[in-house]
Amino acid sequence: MTGKLEGKVAFVTGASSGIGEATAIALAAEGAKVAIAARRSDRLDSLAERIATNGGQALPLVTDVTDETQVNNAVEKAIAQLGGLDIVVNNAGIAVLGNIDTGNPSEWRRSFEVNVFGVLYVTRATVPFLKQQQSGHIVNISSVAGRTARAGVGVYNATKWGVNAFSEALRQEVHKDNIRVTIIEPGLVDTEINDLISDPIAKQRSEERRKAITPLQSEDIAAAILYAVTQPPRVNVNEILIRPTGQDI
Ligand code: NDP
Repeated sequence: MTGKLEGKVAFVTGASSGIGEATAIALAAEGAKVAIAARRSDRLDSLAERIATNGGQALPLVTDVTDETQVNNAVEKAIAQLGGLDIVVNNAGIAVLGNIDTGNPSEWRRSFEVNVFGVLYVTRATVPFLKQQQSGHIVNISSVAGRTARAGVGVYNATKWGVNAFSEALRQEVHKDNIRVTIIEPGLVDTEINDLISDPIAKQRSEERRKAITPLQSEDIAAAILYAVTQPPRVNVNEILIRPTGQDI
């Protein structure tokens, strides 16, 4: 297999479904060896098989990104078994939606653990290697919700705003080490993310929003990620905001 990412190694979190899965497939199709991390091992195994059938190589790593030790072990295994690390896609995320007065604090904490601490742990585990290598690319999946606040979305807004702020600070810290940082901000994408929304009103609202338009597909976001990571070394694509054409805010 020859492609634009031949010889590169990528580490993708949240690769068991949706955007992460599509991204792993897209990176592998361009020749990258891909470490695929998430909690559902059956999904990871079947994805690794599909990638192998298409001539690629994927390493399933069962990992909960909220557990720092699991993250460190997964990154270590990826580097050892795939022979390096070049691209990190911090994609794992959950959407906790609903108004503040009916919200559940343990769900708020969980969303910060996955959406923010997960990104921090993976970044902490990978940046020293990339610095030593003097090259690398970190892609953080934020959201339109990282730029535009909406009633009923405040907690998710806060986590994704955090991802954006952290990513820009990170870019300033690591650009001298030839490490690129990209924020991807999708609008509505047709994935499983809504399935876990526990607040019935928020879930209904979100489903109605989705039904009213033609949402993006995970492959659309994977294509944006692929664009960012296949630019010449001098090009640091810092931010890509992608809405479905029919989405208002
Ligand atoms: P999915 O629900 O399809 O995918 C979420 C992924 O995150 C799954 O692979 C899941 O794997 C993983 N994940 C969740 N919790 C953890 C955890 N603790 N440790 C490791 N992995 C975890 O949703 P999407 O593909 O839509 O979401 C991907 C990213 O895109 C998220 O960051 C989301 O916020 C963002 N996004 C999504 C939008 C949309 O409309 N769909 C819009 C804007 C941004 P597993 O359960 O196996 O651990």
